[in-house]
Amino acid sequence: MEKIVSLCKRRGYVFQSSEIYGGAASVWDYGPLGVELRKNVADAWWSTMVHERGDIEGLDAGILMHPRVWEASGHVTGFTDPLLECKTCKKRWRADHLEDGACPRKPSVAPGAHGDCELGEPRLFNLMFKTFMGPVEEDASVVYLRPETAQGSYVNFLNVQQTSRQRVPFGIAQVGKAFRNEITPGNFIFRTREFEQAEMQFFVKPGSDDDWFDYWREQRLAWHHEIGIRPDKLRFHEHGPGELAHYAKTAIDIEYEFPFGWQELEGVHNRTDFDLSRHQEYSGKRLLYIDPGSGERFIPYVVETAMGVGRAALVALVDAYREEEVAGQARVVLSLDPRLAPIKAAVFPLMKKFGQPETAKELLTALRRARIPASYDQAGSIGRRYRRQDEAGTPWCVTVDRQTGEDQSVTIRDRDTLAQERVGIDHVERWIRERLR
Ligand code: ATP
Repeated sequence: MEKIVSLCKRRGYVFQSSEIYGGAASVWDYGPLGVELRKNVADAWWSTMVHERGDIEGLDAGILMHPRVWEASGHVTGFTDPLLECKTCKKRWRADHLEDGACPRKPSVAPGAHGDCELGEPRLFNLMFKTFMGPVEEDASVVYLRPETAQGSYVNFLNVQQTSRQRVPFGIAQVGKAFRNEITPGNFIFRTREFEQAEMQFFVKPGSDDDWFDYWREQRLAWHHEIGIRPDKLRFHEHGPGELAHYAKTAIDIEYEFPFGWQELEGVHNRTDFDLSRHQEYSGKRLLYIDPGSGERFIPYVVETAMGVGRAALVALVDAYREEEVAGQARVVLSLDPRLAPIKAAVFPLMKKFGQPETAKELLTALRRARIPASYDQAGSIGRRYRRQDEAGTPWCVTVDRQTGEDQSVTIRDRDTLAQERVGIDHVERWIRERLR
């Protein structure tokens, strides 16, 4: 993991938040390449879930919602983790993740394992961040930063269904920030207190929920394969009765084998009619679906797919990271799927003369105009320029050389195969487009 963290810093993927002040614990800032990667992950998700289907609509609900939403959803009473504190060293752990923890005192041992350790009883700790709406800090003005985007989809269920004239089964998709006051955040951007979610709520007729649950778990696994994640690094983990969230009938995690072990990447949950029924009860407003064809009335069941965008970006980085030897020289390469790569093409002049920089810059401008994210580099040897782009995950390097002046062709070098192809300068844009799907 240290190698990934250091590459992320070196190449501008991820920085520690507020670094000049010593850093803010477990908050991370996405740099120039990181912000593109995260956006590309979210866009790939949006294309598959919204644009390529007719039965899922997009929504962008507010982060702050009416506080009753969180009473209805069960988060005020039930969104808790068991917190365990050592009275001797004051360190805190999640009681259900104790095996991952360590005593901060030397020698480092399991929590509670030093002779004078004194672990207290686990107590439930609510993970929602609280703040106040308006200028007065009083109980009546308490609001929460949402811990999931899902509730915005539930309270808008009829708004979306009626305005888009969808019929059940249909879904609502959202990408947006969520906040959880995690007891033990960590593992770089794996678990943070502020993170982005890509969640989809699929509303179905009661009785068809088990089939839709099976459908969505397969669809979601297939999507991770499609964006280039190695299939042998992904698996399902079915939740046992003790693991199920308060709203879930069945739940499955899609797990990835991180350097620190198999961990959840995405969850697929059968949330039944729990959320819509509770909002109907707490708001006093009917959230009944009336089928325009059959006239049937029911509160739909919900199958949810919930993925962390930052966590999926971390998976992409970890999965793509390789150390190789090329012609006797070590190289670090990020073999990101071209769709996810922040920069698609880097344009180089082989030499800083003979009009090569001018031609390369013209090509750069043409690529940018065609909305192909591209960069320019003329510093150092061509080998060093390749290495920089390999580490950044850029799939193609385009070099303008002496021959370009003669026949208007350039070389395109492939990051993974290292193969070089000569392509007419006017065809570079199309050549890249064809490979981006
Ligand atoms: P855990 O049990 O690990 O705390 P969870 O099961 O509560 O997580 P969900 O509520 O299912 O997680 O959230 C859906 C997805 O959101 C997760 O699969 C993960 O990708 C992402 N996610 C959840 N919590 C965090 C976090 N603190 N930091 C980054 N991503 C997160």
